[in-house]
Amino acid sequence: MRAQKKVDSEKLASRFRSLFGKEPVLYRAPGRVNNIGEHTDYNDGFVMPMNTAVYTWVAASPRNEPSVRVHSVLFDETFEFSLDAIEPGGASAWVEYAKGVAFILQDQGFELTGADLLIDGEIPLGGGLSSSASLEAVIATALLGCSGLEVDPMKVALMCQRAEHEFAGVPCGIMDQAVICACPEDHAIRLDCRSLEIKPIPLPKELCLLVVDSGVKHQLSDGGYRQRRSECDFAIDLLRKREPGVASYRDVTGPMLAKYETELGELPFRRARHAVSETLRVREAESAIAGGNLEALGKILNASHASLRDDFMVSCDELDFLQQTAVQTSGVYGSRMVGGGFGGCTISLVDPAKLEEVRGLIVAAYAEYSGQEPWSHRVKSAAPAGLA
Ligand code: ADP
Ligand code: MG
Repeated sequence: MRAQKKVDSEKLASRFRSLFGKEPVLYRAPGRVNNIGEHTDYNDGFVMPMNTAVYTWVAASPRNEPSVRVHSVLFDETFEFSLDAIEPGGASAWVEYAKGVAFILQDQGFELTGADLLIDGEIPLGGGLSSSASLEAVIATALLGCSGLEVDPMKVALMCQRAEHEFAGVPCGIMDQAVICACPEDHAIRLDCRSLEIKPIPLPKELCLLVVDSGVKHQLSDGGYRQRRSECDFAIDLLRKREPGVASYRDVTGPMLAKYETELGELPFRRARHAVSETLRVREAESAIAGGNLEALGKILNASHASLRDDFMVSCDELDFLQQTAVQTSGVYGSRMVGGGFGGCTISLVDPAKLEEVRGLIVAAYAEYSGQEPWSHRVKSAAPAGLA
């Protein structure tokens, strides 16, 4: 994964002026991390993500023709498409996000004017902070802004998710787009993935998270993800049949699940136990955050990691090494793998006074273990997608 440079807003505006010969308005959308609630989104559970202050930027201005001209600084490419005839495919992958968002916004009845867009970004691509959802959100915000339209942020999130499904071909959940479009600054959100209800969770000032990237992505990841989903579905289908009142994992308790251990078989039982316990941990994390109890929150992160490693079995040696190194380091309250698994990043809850010391120790230990220095990022709360 490549770390990206900070975008200089003055330079972006001046580049826009020289490309398109007019004055832009600047928009930006943050990246995101998920504090807790892993593999709960597709199980109708809860997740608790927040935004972080690395951004995808768009300089934008309306144009008279019904088409969009878009240039990416990162890919050094320009593309133009007519708003009247958008179809998936046929362009560089990054352009598909712009086309997809424009298509879905219009499909949902929003009348877009043409626009000139210049995109730049600070979020590492494929690095666990969801650069794709950030890109969708900032393009949607810019296109709506150019058209003089104001739309409810959750509605924008849903349209961005559809663009990712239909144009990027990624069957993602709603978490990334929801948090990037709708989470207020200095808050996480508790998102109910069943009802899409959002509860803002104010964050204590001392909450300090460090993301460290293992730099690996194991082959297993796609097949493993599909297999986990079908095991979870199998287990909940059986529980629904046996237990009146169970609609989804949030209705299942530990003792109730234990009754079906033999009937479910070992692996579906373990997957279900993760879904049940992780849903509970989101609730526990909410109380720990409300009480400013970072020790308790750290333990919840550790328990989440153990469950993802032992019950859901989506960790790997590199992630376990990073997590173990973190929890053995003074100044760390707790740590866990984040994301789909089989590689990717960990987050660690750190005493802010010891952040640089902790970062140095983890980075050095991992460099010795793996032969490469890992990318790391201090999470800093950020406003949702909007005007820069
Ligand atoms: P992530 O985990 O970061 O979301 P994805 O593979 O889902 O990784 O999305 C990364 C893709 O999103 C990139 O390959 C590119 O097509 C697009 N993208 C993200 N940020 C930018 C950007 N700043 N400029 C152009 N394209 C971008
Ligand atoms: Mg993505």
